[in-house]
Amino acid sequence: ATVLVSGASGFIAAWIIKTLLDQGFDVRGTVRSSSKGDQLVKLFKDYGSKFSYVLVEDISLDGAFDEAVKGVDAIIHTASPFVGNAQEPDEWIKPAVDGTLNALKSAKEFGTSVKRVVITSSVAAVQQPKTEMPAIYTETDWNTSAVEEVKEKGAQAGHLVKYRASKVLAERAAWDFVEENKGEIGFDIATILPSFVFGPLLHDVPSPAQLSVSPKMFYEAIRGQGYPQQRASFGINYVDVRDVAELHVRALTNEAAGGERFICSAGSFSWQEAYNILNSAEPPISNVPKGNPAAQSIHQMIHSSDKARFLLGFEFTSVEKMTVDTLRSLREREAGW
Ligand code: NDP
Repeated sequence: ATVLVSGASGFIAAWIIKTLLDQGFDVRGTVRSSSKGDQLVKLFKDYGSKFSYVLVEDISLDGAFDEAVKGVDAIIHTASPFVGNAQEPDEWIKPAVDGTLNALKSAKEFGTSVKRVVITSSVAAVQQPKTEMPAIYTETDWNTSAVEEVKEKGAQAGHLVKYRASKVLAERAAWDFVEENKGEIGFDIATILPSFVFGPLLHDVPSPAQLSVSPKMFYEAIRGQGYPQQRASFGINYVDVRDVAELHVRALTNEAAGGERFICSAGSFSWQEAYNILNSAEPPISNVPKGNPAAQSIHQMIHSSDKARFLLGFEFTSVEKMTVDTLRSLREREAGW
């Protein structure tokens, strides 16, 4: 079977592609430039012709995926703007929403063999202020505050707010599309909502400035003195990129996953906890910030992955393994920068 993976050049997509190839799938990736496509061909050279790529330069154009979907059995749509200095909310929202809708529309018109579309959403699509402590988020939550804030503040809204709005609107648009096209489409959808994604890098990253948002955050946290104590004690929901990839593939292959959203989060950790883990690792790792090893971390928020755990029997990578493997991978890359 062949799977189309959009945004193939990304941090998460590279692991999705590897996971698919390791499980025997053929993969067609979409990229915005042939240089990124060629890098991926090099990365996956051991799989021979099982990996190929097509150019989709602008996912927000009508019919963007019309050619790409032909002959594929499933789609994993990861491409979405995550970095950049775009000011106008639409510069975030349009590619996110239209990119998702275009993947679905092309699948409807030209993807006659497509059975399932898995879409990378985000906990940004569920998370908004709650009064209880710790605040627990599940798949029944929908973030409405980011969209309201963007409506109110327009270009003045923060980048993170615009990003969150783009993710929630894109996921909503996908579910609405499926509802409106019931009976006319031969596929169902599932959405994956990762919290902050860390873990080793697989894709090409020519310089630290080009690190994706979440590995960059890790990279900054473990350099020099690390983050100041207040920030270092604050809980962050995390997940290992290898788990994110595996959950996308499970959502593709497991019948019961159709029509479901899945939060993909291993738990809450703090940078201080990461420092403590790294400083007691065996074999020892040098030059890791110490912070204040005795400081209490504050875990205010839980992204619940109970659905993935119970419905799909999913088990998440431990914080110890995630932390050590991410640091080792970044140190290896750093040696070449
Ligand atoms: P990356 O920045 O590494 O990957 C983003 C991918 O999307 C790249 O392939 C990029 O292509 C592509 N892309 C971005 N904007 C556009 C656009 N306008 N048109 C076409 N393609 C575009 O980040 P991640 O791998 O972390 O993110 C992948 C997905 O996971 C995104 O949907 C993101 O929202 C989601 N996510 C990520 C989390 C994280 O912590 N990392 C957490 C939750 C969700 P190019 O290489 O050409 O720029």
